[in-house]
Amino acid sequence: MIEGSVLGMVDGVHTFFKDGLRLDGRKKDELRPIKIKAGVLKRADGSCYLEHGGNKIMAAVYGPREVHPRHLQHPTRAIVRYRYNMASFSVDERKRPGPDRRSVEISKISREAMESVVLKEQFPKTVVDVFIEVLQSDAGTRAAGINAAAVAMADAGIPMKGLVTACAAGKIGGEVVLDLCKEEDNYGEADMPIAIVPRTGEITMIQMDGHMTFDEFREGLELALKGCRQIYELQREALIERYKSGVEGEE
Ligand code: ADP
Repeated sequence: MIEGSVLGMVDGVHTFFKDGLRLDGRKKDELRPIKIKAGVLKRADGSCYLEHGGNKIMAAVYGPREVHPRHLQHPTRAIVRYRYNMASFSVDERKRPGPDRRSVEISKISREAMESVVLKEQFPKTVVDVFIEVLQSDAGTRAAGINAAAVAMADAGIPMKGLVTACAAGKIGGEVVLDLCKEEDNYGEADMPIAIVPRTGEITMIQMDGHMTFDEFREGLELALKGCRQIYELQREALIERYKSGVEGEE
């Protein structure tokens, strides 16, 4: 066992499985535990708090609202802005605050994953601002951020053709598995996050870090799609729960 780690080591090679299970006790096709709560911030138009394994994410959505600076306005449709940020206390060693290459990339691909579902032509000249704050990170934060963003956007009442749902598959110790935790991500061979619109089946994000054969890619895609379908149900439940308590609260 590597000190402070769930991974084993045999002859200098990491071992990721024990008795057919991953070292955190999960099966190959099992997600980490997920909790989603919609409508947690009073001052945002829509919000969501999401836990996925060791990830803790807050999403806040504002809009549709006036665009500043105004030259970014689009005359016939809304624009979507997405800022992914990792808090300096979200990782083991303090992360330098502020944007970096990684957060700029994640913000861009996450915006692209979300914006195709927004019915932008319905509110021209406006902006939908999405803020993702990673409070604690444990691999898979871009997918967790997208899942939280989708719930927060629905909570804000943004007209959309469906929710967006994301999760990753990867390869560890030569096996294709669902939803890598941090150590699997660090020491594994590949990580492939995807985002889909479950209502339409459209894939809005697909990335690959590492190497997989074409067959492994297909297997990973199947697994990730299966994971997304499970997360989609949790997103829906969180919104139904929010709607119920909203109605009760107003009585
Ligand atoms: P994702 O979180 O979407 O899987 P990455 O694969 O880039 O994105 O990162 C994997 C994990 O590595 C993150 O969830 C986080 O736990 C850790 N990590 C990323 N950047 C840093 C950093 N600057 N310092 C420490 N840990 C980091």
